[in-house]
Amino acid sequence: MLIDTYGRVATDLRVSLTDRCNLRCTYCMPEEGLQWLAKPDLLTDDEIVRLVGIAVTSLGIEEVRFTGGEPLLRPGLVGIVERVAALEPRPQTSLTTNGIGLRRTAAALKEAGLDRVNVSLDTLRPDVFKTLTRRDRHQDVLDGLHAAREAGLTPVKVNSVLMPGLNDDEAPDLLAWAVEHDYELRFIEQMPLDAQHGWKRDGMITAGDILASLRTRFELTPEGEEARGSAPAERWLVDGGPHRVGVIASVTRPFCAACDRTRLTADGQIRTCLFATEETDLRAALRSGAPDEEIARLWKHAMRGKKAGAGLDDPGFIQPDRPMSAIGG
Ligand code: SAM
Ligand code: SF4
Repeated sequence: MLIDTYGRVATDLRVSLTDRCNLRCTYCMPEEGLQWLAKPDLLTDDEIVRLVGIAVTSLGIEEVRFTGGEPLLRPGLVGIVERVAALEPRPQTSLTTNGIGLRRTAAALKEAGLDRVNVSLDTLRPDVFKTLTRRDRHQDVLDGLHAAREAGLTPVKVNSVLMPGLNDDEAPDLLAWAVEHDYELRFIEQMPLDAQHGWKRDGMITAGDILASLRTRFELTPEGEEARGSAPAERWLVDGGPHRVGVIASVTRPFCAACDRTRLTADGQIRTCLFATEETDLRAALRSGAPDEEIARLWKHAMRGKKAGAGLDDPGFIQPDRPMSAIGG
């Protein structure tokens, strides 16, 4: 098991398949100038499958989520999903994506064994989408979402980040739209993980702001701690249910005490947390011929040192050097 000194057990593995992306969301990446990981530094498909295999068969990982950067840009994605879904015991598999290109790949991903997707969409307004992501691809995302639902990659979840002055008035519209299309909407508080280090605590849209805005149009009933488990999203029933809305309040209501995650970056580093400042290099071990047992030992050792919390709201918080796109969100 991957257990830390606070007794938390990691059963959920986030695998970043690339740091590259076809959007430039302002809260994530600068318009240009971001240095990409060099191709030889990226894990190969075989290396990824081997590491995920060790995690699933020897370290108690039950759920594997592929992310990035934009994971749909990884040429070998369908094959990786297929091989991971064939592991014993079979892990739950999911994908976090911006949805661009999902229209073409959703059915193949389902066929390969993918269980679910989370698609990121922050606005229903194409002009605001263009400002937020610096690309004119709103319709592609809507098409991708539709294809995901048709392919049975359900429940389809939608992740939204609200930015002051851009889309912070859209929470109720996004929820009405999600309910209508049967997507499960989750708002994510903006976190200090942008490559430009432009995050400001003052002025960010908080969970409190989001809930107040939603309550102007909907009745929200808390689902309670039991239903939440180790999930980062606090959830509410919308107008008595069955639809729900979630809020991931990493800044104002951190859930570190229940965290069950471990992360593998596209260049083979283990991170205990999005906000960790240290990493453990599994790629070097892999490429120097280490056997599975040695890699499992390194992984366990890394996770033992996981910190109690990320402390985003602490005055002494230091943003990690690696941006979200290179960690895997
Ligand atoms: N490209 C894919 C996507 O956008 O879904 C996967 C990677 S992206 C880094 C994963 C999630 O992180 C997205 O839902 C995105 O909105 C969110 N995200 C990125 N930067 C963020 C930030 N600074 N604060 C909060 N969420 C962020
Ligand atoms: Fe790309 Fe996702 Fe970052 Fe947006 S949030 S720039 S889609 S990696």
